[in-house]
Amino acid sequence: MLDWLKSLLVRRGHFAALDAADFPDFAPGSVWLVGAGPGAPGLISLLGYHALGQAEVIFYDALVSDRLLIHANPRAQKIFAGKRGGKPSPKQADITLQLIDWARKGKRVLRLKGGDPFVFGRGGEEAGALFRANLKFRIVPGISSGLGGLAYAGIPVTHRETNHAVIFLTGHDETGDVSPLDWPSIAKAAPVIVMFMAVKHLNTIVQKLLAAGRDPTDRLAIVSNAASPQQTVVETTLAAASDLADVPTPAIVVVGPVSAYRDALDWYTGPARENSFG
Ligand code: SAH
Repeated sequence: MLDWLKSLLVRRGHFAALDAADFPDFAPGSVWLVGAGPGAPGLISLLGYHALGQAEVIFYDALVSDRLLIHANPRAQKIFAGKRGGKPSPKQADITLQLIDWARKGKRVLRLKGGDPFVFGRGGEEAGALFRANLKFRIVPGISSGLGGLAYAGIPVTHRETNHAVIFLTGHDETGDVSPLDWPSIAKAAPVIVMFMAVKHLNTIVQKLLAAGRDPTDRLAIVSNAASPQQTVVETTLAAASDLADVPTPAIVVVGPVSAYRDALDWYTGPARENSFG
């Protein structure tokens, strides 16, 4: 309920008072699509945390940390609805049908997704199905790995001296093939390109960017398992990217000058840090 969250936050001095309108009750029979953020449990929003405490059924993705699920309502039924490379995974249509079924049974249904539900997360498809099923739903945005995950690697997605634009793209389409994008335009349109799901086709993508005239000395960084104790970062250039050994996934690939700021800004794992943030 709102009361526990309120007392927790008030006790910790964060808020003098909280408005119930800002933390609405989770109505029985409704579905909330909540972004969990990129990894570290503390990166979920206050509203997402509020929902976690009230939900009765929780469908969670592979990208959602176990350390976040600890904070769920202890009576909630937790159902894994994720995909993990190569292993059999529930079909998207099945997940959507289950969300609808549980909501029709009058449950408070939480769909917990990694990052932001509307950033390459199929949140729009699921919400569309709920709309067609005439169910009440709410979207609680999250911190996308393409933004917050890079921040955990000390990479600002924009920087006044380097870029006035960013492109976010996915490396493959729903069939698993390299995304059917206008790669020559992408190569020219923005100094920074943030790529989701791009490890599988990285060589092909890099070749497409180089063929379109992108500078071979342009920086390329790969942030794996961002915002978790397993976070790793590799840095190279476009031209040398094909020499990379396998990198762990999930991973965000960022092309462009912004990864250079890591030298000073890597607060999470780098020499700049004074305390262990593990
Ligand atoms: N909705 C999610 C993205 C889902 S698509 C978001 O907003 O972050 C899945 C892709 O997201 C992965 O293939 C990877 O490219 C990226 N990703 C998600 N979590 C990540 C993490 N903790 N570290 C690195 N990449 C991550």
